[in-house]
Amino acid sequence: MSDPDCLFCSIVAGDVPAEVVATSERSVAFRDVNPQAPTHVLVVPRTHHRDAAALAAADPAGTADLVTLAAEVAAGEGLSGYRLVFNTGAEAGQTVFHTHLHVVGGRDLGWPPG
Ligand code: 5GP
Ligand code: ZN
Repeated sequence: MSDPDCLFCSIVAGDVPAEVVATSERSVAFRDVNPQAPTHVLVVPRTHHRDAAALAAADPAGTADLVTLAAEVAAGEGLSGYRLVFNTGAEAGQTVFHTHLHVVGGRDLGWPPG
């Protein structure tokens, strides 16, 4: 359930430092190292899955927990609105293949995204 070569598994384990802002039994939320907005937090499951679909297939409750913890993060940041994004696959911009939910807010985000 953990991949020794995975960056986010290492962050979950505490072996790579990150600014953790919230945790639950199933998930960990930490600030993105290259923020795209005043609030940019990544919420990840403690277990290793390559993307959101793989997590949903293996652990539906774990998928829901990401959204629940993301809402707690947004509330803690004082956001009245925010965007949740799962980049899925390299073509969509996914660069880290451990499921992660981007929580983005604190500026006018616009729609549709670029
Ligand atoms: P993706 O492009 O896969 O959807 O998102 C990966 C995110 O992880 C990117 O926004 C990137 O800035 C972030 N990231 C990459 N390496 C690190 C790291 O070592 N620490 C943290 N906190 N974020 C990282
Ligand atoms: Zn991992």
